[in-house]
Amino acid sequence: MSIYSDTIDHYGPSLQLIKAGEEMAEFAAELIHYGIDMQLGQKPKNGHDLAEEWADVEIMLKQVEIILYHLKGDKHQEKKRKLDRLHDMITQKQDAVIDIEKLGCGMVGAGDAS
Ligand SMILES: [Mg+2]
Repeated sequence: MSIYSDTIDHYGPSLQLIKAGEEMAEFAAELIHYGIDMQLGQKPKNGHDLAEEWADVEIMLKQVEIILYHLKGDKHQEKKRKLDRLHDMITQKQDAVIDIEKLGCGMVGAGDAS
């Protein structure tokens, strides 16, 4: 047993999945605030809060891995598909930048990188 499986046993798997979603939402909010500060060229003000939510999410993801173990194969398959797509996107973008540079038109804009 681990602290993760003990916690799942204590609260129940469904509540821990809901809690995982809540923690991810809190992490997402902190990431957005941090990223906005960076984008504006400002020193991010919420580093400690972001670290706290990041830790929460890592703890919850360990529990999600246990609760949703039966989906592990599907997750690995989707991860590979998405990483392959991401690789294609960034290599195509590099090719596009090179093509534009050959035309003397400068850099192209950023696209969706998720
Ligand atoms: Mg939290």
